[in-house]
Amino acid sequence: MHSKNWIGGEWMTPSGKELTVKNPSRTTEEVGVLHLSDRSHVFAAEQAARAAQIGWAKQTGAARGEILFQMAAALETNADSLAQLASREMGKQLGEMRGELARGVSLLRYYAGEGMRSNGNLIPSSDTNVLQYSRRVPLGVVAVITPWNFPVAIPIWKIAPALICGNTVIWKPAENGSLTATRLAEIFAETKLPAGVLNLVIGKGREIGNTLTNEAEVDAVSFTGSSETGRQIAIACAGRNIKYQTEMGGKNAAVVLADADLDKTVPILLSGAFRSAGQKCTATSRIIVEKAIYQPLVERLQTAMETCRVGDASDLEAYLGPVASAAQYETVGQYIALANDEATVIAQSPSYAKEEQGYYIRPQIVEGVAANHRLVQEEVFGPLAVLLTADGFEEAVELCNQSVYGLSASLFTRDLASAHRFLDVAQAGMVRVNQETAGVEYQAPFGGMKLSSSHTREQGQAALDFYSTTKTCAIKYAW
Ligand code: NAD
Repeated sequence: MHSKNWIGGEWMTPSGKELTVKNPSRTTEEVGVLHLSDRSHVFAAEQAARAAQIGWAKQTGAARGEILFQMAAALETNADSLAQLASREMGKQLGEMRGELARGVSLLRYYAGEGMRSNGNLIPSSDTNVLQYSRRVPLGVVAVITPWNFPVAIPIWKIAPALICGNTVIWKPAENGSLTATRLAEIFAETKLPAGVLNLVIGKGREIGNTLTNEAEVDAVSFTGSSETGRQIAIACAGRNIKYQTEMGGKNAAVVLADADLDKTVPILLSGAFRSAGQKCTATSRIIVEKAIYQPLVERLQTAMETCRVGDASDLEAYLGPVASAAQYETVGQYIALANDEATVIAQSPSYAKEEQGYYIRPQIVEGVAANHRLVQEEVFGPLAVLLTADGFEEAVELCNQSVYGLSASLFTRDLASAHRFLDVAQAGMVRVNQETAGVEYQAPFGGMKLSSSHTREQGQAALDFYSTTKTCAIKYAW
């Protein structure tokens, strides 16, 4: 398969640099070729999106919603083949990838319905015969910049609310999600989406992403990716006074209190830490355990790890696939080496016979490092979890909050009072009890505190606030 740009309803293949995409599960297998855009493609997309925006915003919410319903139906029809392609492109285990596709369909339907819901408030006037109200209006042209770890769901949770609000979109996906992005755009092209409403530009972040955020005449940027890139984008957008949203890294803690139901807790910890090979911004990477139950929890984790098999992403029996790329393999490998040197490995998943064929990293749980150690403080973005101990609730919360990140946090307990106290004091945008740090539902606001997020939220109704601005309207209808 070859990547393509979709600009103003036309498909085109840039004639410049190319990149071969290899399957992270079997690196000898070529999945396709990326054709990298240059700056001129960004400006062409900007013009197409600008030209389409007024007409798109003029359509009724119901009409825009109807097109989103069509997009959902087209995606549902093609879900399995797209899941397979994404799984081959970035290594997410096929069962999980299918789950992601189902979420994409639900997101489109959820936002399609928003076209028919109220989008403002009636505000009493202090004058007579005045009708005063607020309404949400679109921002204009929105740049959407997405990472590779959720190559379908993240783009859709940005594109769908942007479109229903009446914006047009220029989408730049991550390099190793670009074949999936091309196919997704092809699927959307089967619907009645007008030309130029959604534009796809494939290319390098430093070139195409940078041109989009620094030079193109866009009215807003929605970005998900690393904290480093996010901060650069935030600075660029603030300098241009355009709206931005940056969803970034995490170092999410799960706190296990002595009264937790350990048999139920352990599978949830494992899933939070190791599904998607730990490459979720909301993955559990710190497990903070009350001392009284440390040993029994460790024993249960050791037993559970026996079933946490790494395998080819197409293997439905595998718990996790490889990490996504050579770059990921190298970075995560450095943290695994650090863990082997400076921590104690208490559990590691069984070895995979064909490890040398792909970017396979066996999940590890380690202990024996201080709370300020790099393994406890830095985002690994791979299958590595660190255990820490706490004397009780207060110390556990202190450790949980001792992070520059604040995306997601979980508590495991049977005590309602502890649960409520944790929901009050945990410094994270998403706080959960007896649940994974990952897996927040799409109809609820998604985002973090501190360095995890700019100060907006995605998904749910919160996304509609980001992709629109408020207009206050008043009319004196009689003198
Ligand atoms: P990344 O920052 O390298 O890239 C993300 C996107 O930004 C890609 O499309 C990339 O091409 C583009 N980009 C890179 N440099 C750019 C620049 N200078 N200007 C504009 N765009 C640029 O991140 P990644 O490695 O693809 O993703 C992993 C990171 O994403 C992790 O830190 C993870 O925690 C984070 N993430 C966060 C969330 C969240 O919602 N908080 C969700 C998923 C992933």
